[in-house]
Amino acid sequence: MEVELENSFRKLCVIGDPVGHSLSPLLHNTLCQTLALPYIYLCQPVTRETLGDFLQGAKALGYAGFNATMPFKELLIPYLDGIDPAVERLGAVNTVCIKNGKLYGYNTDMPGFVAALRHSGFEPMGRRALILGAGGAAAAVAVGLREAGAKVVVANRTAEKARRVAALADGAAVGFDIDTLAGEASQAELLVNATSLGMAGQPSFPDLAFLEDLSQGSWAVDLIYHPARTAFLERAEVLGHPIMNGLPLLLHQAVLALEHFTGTSIPLETAIPLLEQTVTNVIGP
Ligand code: NAP
Repeated sequence: MEVELENSFRKLCVIGDPVGHSLSPLLHNTLCQTLALPYIYLCQPVTRETLGDFLQGAKALGYAGFNATMPFKELLIPYLDGIDPAVERLGAVNTVCIKNGKLYGYNTDMPGFVAALRHSGFEPMGRRALILGAGGAAAAVAVGLREAGAKVVVANRTAEKARRVAALADGAAVGFDIDTLAGEASQAELLVNATSLGMAGQPSFPDLAFLEDLSQGSWAVDLIYHPARTAFLERAEVLGHPIMNGLPLLLHQAVLALEHFTGTSIPLETAIPLLEQTVTNVIGP
């Protein structure tokens, strides 16, 4: 994309290793340009070894903040001068604001997922959610849903990780075998795939029969957005369930991050359709 620059623009970036695949520069520059926010957002490769140098440099160069992806969501925490309660609870940070040489960390994945669900028409309060997976994304989803008033159940291949994420969300951990998934799906009002199964280049679910047990009207959500429709979502849709892929999470967490960076309230009715179109133009429908 073309970005019109002025000398007064402040700098933002995303750091990661690897980071070249990140859509964050596209999302943030599109929003800044459209909303006339005076910021430029860059893609910055950083390694574990260069993280300290990057932080010194970002402060010295007057960066307003940065987003963090793998492997820095946990590694950054000891460097922060202040953290929000979401970071404290999850032990993961994805947004850092730099003010007066100090680093303030936020996690926008957690509220971003709940915002995406509500924007799509699902209210988590009082609902029962079954989360498949127990990695970083599953933890953000589990804690976000719990804070929004949902009851959380976590199923994961590695049982110990399921217990850890369930504990973060005051929920229950269950097995990942097909009979357990079917039994749990029959009670769930929201089923979230937070595993990497079905992601482009990764294996798919070996058996999706548990979706047959999801009760009518329950939602199926996949955190994956590439491909836009996984076999998990396609099967759920054929069975008549409302579905949501991972794109709304990606967009809502970015909007929340930009609000932190700029101190500006960003109108969702403008931002979300604009970003949906922008991402679709790049990765396809
Ligand atoms: P992660 O920390 O590596 O966790 C991966 C999860 O997938 C673990 O629970 C792992 O189970 C499970 N898994 C992997 N291979 C499996 C297999 N063959 N059978 C069963 N389970 C398997 O990754 P993450 O960062 O949480 O990301 C998880 C997914 O969310 C990815 O698809 C990612 O693209 C997506 N995501 C989307 C967004 C978004 O903005 N939409 C943001 C973040 C992540 P074990 O614990 O047993 O290994």
